[in-house]
Formats: sequence, C-alpha cells, structure tokens
Amino acid sequence: MATKSSMRIDCPSCGESFDADFWTVVRGDRDAGLKEAIISGEFDLLMCPRCRGVFSREETFIYLDTEMELLAFVMPSSYSGESGKWTAKMREDYEAVKPTLFQGKPVEFEPRCLFGVNELTALLLRDRDAEEETDVMEFMAREADLRLAPLLPSRARERDILFSVPYSGPEPTRGAAIEALKKIEAANDALVRVKRTREVFEKLSGDALPFLKKQP
Ligand SMILES: [Zn+2]
Repeated sequence: MATKSSMRIDCPSCGESFDADFWTVVRGDRDAGLKEAIISGEFDLLMCPRCRGVFSREETFIYLDTEMELLAFVMPSSYSGESGKWTAKMREDYEAVKPTLFQGKPVEFEPRCLFGVNELTALLLRDRDAEEETDVMEFMAREADLRLAPLLPSRARERDILFSVPYSGPEPTRGAAIEALKKIEAANDALVRVKRTREVFEKLSGDALPFLKKQP
C-alpha cells in the first residue's frame, strides 16, 4: 500500500502551481518523527517553492499505531458538517484497506473517524499524558514491590484510565488491583488516572482483571 501520494496544488499567496507530497498512511508506531509533527501541529504545513509562504492543506490520511491499538481515518475538518456520511464512507474504506493494513492478523479495536488533524493531535496529547501518569504509577509500584499488568490500550483510552495497573499477590485480579491502586493513591493523591482507574474497577464486578492485555 502506498503511504504517500503526490498532488498538484496552488499557493494561496502567489498562485504558484507545484507538486506536493501527502502522507496517505502514517504509522505512528514506526515513525516517531511524523508522530511528533502531528503533535507539534506541523504535519499538514506546506511551503511554496516560489514565495516561501507556509500554509496548511488538509488531505485525508490514515493513522495507525498497532501497539497502542489506534486506527484513525483523519479527514479534513470541513467534512465535520456531514460526519454521518463520512463515517459511513470510512466504514467502507476500512473494509477495503483492512487486509493490507493488518495482513490478516486479528484486530480487536475499532477504527475511528476524526475531522481535522487537530483532533488527532488532541488524542495523541491525551495518550501522552496517560503514558506519563502510567510511568509515574509504575515507578511507585516497583518501589512498593507491587506487580504490574498491562491493559488493552484501546479500552483504557475509551475510559481515560491508566495503560497498566498495579496488583499484589500471585494473580492479577480486580480486587488485587483495587487494593494496590489504593496504596498508590495514599502515597500520591495528585494522580487523577490512578483514582479514575480504581473507580472504574470498583463499578465493575467479578474477580477477573478488566481489560487485561494478553501476554504474547
Ligand atoms: Zn507562493
């Protein structure tokens, strides 16, 4: 599958017509530089070769990070007025590109439709916050001789909770995770996702640890 396409465009300042390259597929798990450009807001900027003017140009692209279980069809922000129509189109496109994107491997997360790269930027920034908070929790958990169990990133993202949870004892059960989260909270009550994860887990039932990522 091609990951770039070329298109003839006109500079909005001087009218110069030139060929520009656009990413059609961005692999967030393989290209840290492109992911960084999305986070910093430079991803859709173009520079005119004649007047050196910089302007933004939105084209639809796919963002995929299998490690983080994130697949987004990012469409121009102007499409948001007809989001129903474009979401239906995305579903069709998804079925068409799925075999190439995943090479037949099972996919346990759903694609999402975003309008404008800004929506993807916001999502990646929120993920980064959650990753940082998870890192702090993991450091504290190791210091306290607790174990760690990774959660399915797509399920954690839906609830804005930690990407892993601490637990004590031989098995990662829901109860063991709640107890360990309480210990972390007692030591640092500024970690909002630690609290939220505990609250989410308390509302569920059963012994099994919710959203547990299967170890390879
Ligand atoms: Zn120009």
